[in-house]
Amino acid sequence: MALVSTTSIVLFFLLFINTSHIIIAELPRFEHKRNGEDGSLSFLVVGDWGRRGEYNQSRVAHQMGIIGEELDIDFVISTGDNFYDNGLTGEKDPAFFESFSNIYTANSLQKQWYSVLGNHDYRGDVEAQLSPYLRQIDNRWLCLRSFIVNTEMVEIFFVDTSPFVREYFDIPNEHSYDWRGVLPVKRYINKLLSDLKTSLKKSTATWKIVVGHHAIRSVGHHGDTQELVHHLLPILQANDVDLYINGHDHCLEHISDDKSDIQFLTSGAGSKAWRGDVEEVNKDGVKFFYDGQGFMSVQFLETEVGIVFYDVSGQVVHRWSTSKQPLAAS
Ligand SMILES: [Zn+2]
Repeated sequence: MALVSTTSIVLFFLLFINTSHIIIAELPRFEHKRNGEDGSLSFLVVGDWGRRGEYNQSRVAHQMGIIGEELDIDFVISTGDNFYDNGLTGEKDPAFFESFSNIYTANSLQKQWYSVLGNHDYRGDVEAQLSPYLRQIDNRWLCLRSFIVNTEMVEIFFVDTSPFVREYFDIPNEHSYDWRGVLPVKRYINKLLSDLKTSLKKSTATWKIVVGHHAIRSVGHHGDTQELVHHLLPILQANDVDLYINGHDHCLEHISDDKSDIQFLTSGAGSKAWRGDVEEVNKDGVKFFYDGQGFMSVQFLETEVGIVFYDVSGQVVHRWSTSKQPLAAS
């Protein structure tokens, strides 16, 4: 009996150590070398786009190509809801070509695309979008649940926000979601928040950006995402995050946080837009809101960041910039 007990204790500790290791494990991390010899970094952000070119997706893509050329972009960020209405049916779903490869054809867009998943992506075969097979057939594509892209000056933390939203788990639900790899959801979220907190604390980048599909703050159709206001926002505020970038609401918007320097930027206007409703509840800090289609550019110099929103014709509809000194080496 004594032997059995000792073995059980050892097994318990091994499991414990193993689990602890998993809990403190870091998010997948990619190093991205910048294009510019001047040390600048620039990228485009588009969200909520995959509709086989319809609802002006192709027109937005065309303008992205032009602005991408002008800025000599390093990469593109997709804020999710990549394929409508119900994600991909599998790795071989032709929607991948019809809504991505055959749409974003400009030379300047032949760069790495870093993508997160949206709620619509979870309605299909969610693992198809994460599959290395898609990266083989179009090497621009990189979609993971949560990960980090480091460019030294700027570190970007991609967060899988759909599992935070409680209404998607309501039973019965209007839609079915592919929650493989997410359940039990409480554990998934706790681990993600813990990994994010650890990575943000360790970051020595001058600029820290967090990207998710759902807005923390929005005056668009869906409004603020309360689960993110409660669980994610305090971590961003405590770790000097500069920008939180999202999609989900099919609009372009800019809201400033009232408790920190965080700028909330929505770029979810890659195709269907013009919903025509504005959330009136919380208008604090709203700098800009545009209901129509378009996209955003972000440009960094060592001490400066500038964001620009463009409409479907490539016209600038909003600009904002700020500067700060790099963190002193410790
Ligand atoms: Zn969405």
